[in-house]
Amino acid sequence: MRLDAAIADATDRLRDVSESPRLDAEILLCRTINMPRAYLFAHPEDTLDDLTIDRFEDVLGRREAGVPMAYIMGIKEFWSHELVVSPATLVPRPETEILVNLAICEIPREANWQVLDLGTGSGAIAIAIACERRMCEVTAVDISEAALTVARENARLIAPGNVTCLLGDWTEPVSDRVFDLIVSNPPYVRADDEALTKLQHEPQSALVAGDDGLDAIRVLARDCVNILATGGAFMIEHGADQAADVANLLGEHGWTDVTCHNDLAGLPRVTVARRSGK
Ligand code: GLN
Repeated sequence: MRLDAAIADATDRLRDVSESPRLDAEILLCRTINMPRAYLFAHPEDTLDDLTIDRFEDVLGRREAGVPMAYIMGIKEFWSHELVVSPATLVPRPETEILVNLAICEIPREANWQVLDLGTGSGAIAIAIACERRMCEVTAVDISEAALTVARENARLIAPGNVTCLLGDWTEPVSDRVFDLIVSNPPYVRADDEALTKLQHEPQSALVAGDDGLDAIRVLARDCVNILATGGAFMIEHGADQAADVANLLGEHGWTDVTCHNDLAGLPRVTVARRSGK
């Protein structure tokens, strides 16, 4: 089979599952033949041998079954870093860069703050902050040992020295410490949300948080206040329709200056609150 025919055929097969079927097909073929993308356009008449066709079929079949490109490739770009990802971690989303940006604006350039990232997954947020603010010590907590293995690897490769990964249930492994800033992208999808059918390859524990999607945020609103310095900020990602509920929850636990920020699509997605001085 010729390269151009293989791409056309694969593109057709990925149409239902991908928003960029041709790009996915090209990237998967490049990975299979271990060549840069330009090669596909320079040599459309090259033919694939049977062994290579089998190997292409293997990755194509996985993508056709809905496996995210990030899991097949084993990497995902976030905040200009190439992160290792595995099915044990959520695929980092571009929207989450809003949270990183807010965190970086909060931390003075030369500050040596203690920063906490709860539910770190692949370590995307913790590592982005650690890279932008080298003097800070970033602690990244996750309840999944498999996810932490990925986060540790990313920290070692991208931000060696100022990220520490700890296993545990939200604030439990750091309950005796005080942080200057706490960030989190917790699970916040409702258990009955139809969107989950498209997210079935990602860890459900990183996505779903009870019937109203607020179970994790409830715990964080209650517990983070005990480990944050007075005046310190707590920043949390949530669903576009949860801003009012999140603000109420935070208010119940005495948080002040509660402000919601929009993502690039104009949707309210990250809420910032402060620990009051009282
Ligand atoms: N933004 C993700 C999604 O809806 C959910 C991430 C999360 O629950 N933290 O696909």
